[in-house]
Amino acid sequence: MTERLYYYNSYQTTFQANVVDKYVDKGKYALILNQTCFYPTSGGQICDKGSIEEVPVIDIEEVNGEVIHYLQDEVSADIGDVVSGKIDWRTRFDHMQQHTGQHILSGALMKLYQEDTQSFHMGKDVCTIDIPALDIEEQKINMIEEMANQIIYEDRPIYHYFLKNSTGLTEKKLRKKQEKLDQLRIVEIDQFDCSACGGTHCQHTGEVGIIKINGWENRKDKIRISFLCGYRALADYQKKHNITSYLANFFTTGVEQLTEKIIKLYQEQKELSKLYKKMERDVIKWEVEELKRGYCCEQEGIFVVKKLFCEKDSSNLRQIAYLLSKEEKYVIILGAENPEPVLCLARSADVKHNIKEVIEQIRQQFKGKGGGTDCMALVKLESLKDLKSAFQMAVDYLAG
Ligand SMILES: [Zn+2]
Repeated sequence: MTERLYYYNSYQTTFQANVVDKYVDKGKYALILNQTCFYPTSGGQICDKGSIEEVPVIDIEEVNGEVIHYLQDEVSADIGDVVSGKIDWRTRFDHMQQHTGQHILSGALMKLYQEDTQSFHMGKDVCTIDIPALDIEEQKINMIEEMANQIIYEDRPIYHYFLKNSTGLTEKKLRKKQEKLDQLRIVEIDQFDCSACGGTHCQHTGEVGIIKINGWENRKDKIRISFLCGYRALADYQKKHNITSYLANFFTTGVEQLTEKIIKLYQEQKELSKLYKKMERDVIKWEVEELKRGYCCEQEGIFVVKKLFCEKDSSNLRQIAYLLSKEEKYVIILGAENPEPVLCLARSADVKHNIKEVIEQIRQQFKGKGGGTDCMALVKLESLKDLKSAFQMAVDYLAG
């Protein structure tokens, strides 16, 4: 069993230890010591960072009471030799803040709503706790947050101790009931919360700095609450402050008026978009009439509409061709130079031409992408210089 130095002092960053075992496991250099400051991934908490003999520790696991350090490279020390280890304090303190924050949050949930914390997960960016179904709402979240932060500002001491036997502590006192009371490591926030935990915590609640709940979601029969503590909460505040300040500047308004301003802009944009679509439809109808009036000629009972536009996007061409094809006895040959060279062909239901085939012939001769149906098809040409010849080819096929 590896002696866990962090049980007694989570502020210790350097240590010396004897090598108990070393081996290579799936390409990773494993090292087992008689004692360690390194916290292994367990109990919802992620592992520490740091180095042993200046070699970076990349992962730490706990197997059958042993702490296995996985190193980036081999250390020269042999079994029985003394090695020096150093943990990364910034990571450790971050984990202490998050984990202590979790105890405070779970304590507040129990005090206010008699809610048990089922599990805790510490991520690299955010932490979560799962609680059984609670009729949760913003007001309740605010109450929990307020109580948790009050406990921080009161800077209550936090005690860590081992329970040699159950006489020292009744089960009632623990927030979460434990099967076995012997040899439990107890983490007690003075007159607020008491639970069994093997993690790394602060000595005073004040060190947590702040607890911010930043979301909650329903997950089948439980609720997942996510939160940030200490430096993470500060970094989150800085990021959000920068975003809101930027937006307030951009819209030349105060941060408090931002929500109203953005909602108003969004609604205006929706109205404008509706109006634009209606106008677009009107313009297309008008263009259809213009084409029928000025670009249509009759050939043996068939009305041929042909026009090459300078500027017209393919979806507009398609809509125009579609509307014209609703008329009786029409053949439609339309093209546009910009924004891309495109050809759109169509016919009325009562005209016998296979439009798809014509488009396919043009596509093969001039290179391009496209397709469609027997009644309407479109091709986007690779080169603008082919457009006029392709257009002529369509005229020859359909109105020659
Ligand atoms: Zn803990």
